[in-house]
Amino acid sequence: MRIAEGVEMLELNLGPMTIHPVILFDRDSWTLVDTGMPFSVPALRELAKQAGVGDLPLRNVLLTHQDIDHIGGLPGILAEEREAPVVYAHPDDAPAIDGKQPFVKITPERVEQLRQQMSPSDFGLFERTFLHPTRPNVDRTYADGETLPIGGGLTVIHTPGHTPGHVSLYHQPTRTLIAGDAMVAAEGELNGPNARVTPNMEQAMESLKKYKNFDVARVVCYHGGLVEGDVNERIAKLADRS
Ligand SMILES: [Zn+2]
Repeated sequence: MRIAEGVEMLELNLGPMTIHPVILFDRDSWTLVDTGMPFSVPALRELAKQAGVGDLPLRNVLLTHQDIDHIGGLPGILAEEREAPVVYAHPDDAPAIDGKQPFVKITPERVEQLRQQMSPSDFGLFERTFLHPTRPNVDRTYADGETLPIGGGLTVIHTPGHTPGHVSLYHQPTRTLIAGDAMVAAEGELNGPNARVTPNMEQAMESLKKYKNFDVARVVCYHGGLVEGDVNERIAKLADRS
């Protein structure tokens, strides 16, 4: 779904839920924000094709945080690119993504569950990439407040709480806020983070205050999708509640 010039919000159906990776693109290349699950790479590729970027090189993969539904597609996506894209993550989540620290939420029980859900080859790739990696997965780390020269200017907002290194991304040319899991949406209504999967709710609510420095025209929540109209007011209300 084209939500603004050069910005495509994907609607990736995982069965029990739909998630929303974002594509930023120009005539020459594209950037992917979050990668879906290990088994959803073919569907993600199909959506990228429908968005018109199927034949362009993927230059960057921006990870909002370390959770499986955000990083899971990474190995499958990298395997299909001729030239490796640059993979970004926040320094507080990068060690987990690089297999040097335990994940906050991908426990050994969850890994066992994944083993049963995935094909042996998908699980093998997951295991080699994240559990016993031979090389780092993250090429570059974000600094809070930096503006990446991607899509005409993409500002990194460190919004910890859901995970320590969770970031949101603000696309300057279109005033689009990619919230990751720092906020969720339901029926077009913007809400704070999901307490069930947010280990540090106090910090996560505090993080929402950082959004008040940005003039936001629309928000993409990974869970819940697009929210438009009065979003600055809505964000201010959510932030003041903390
Ligand atoms: Zn998450």
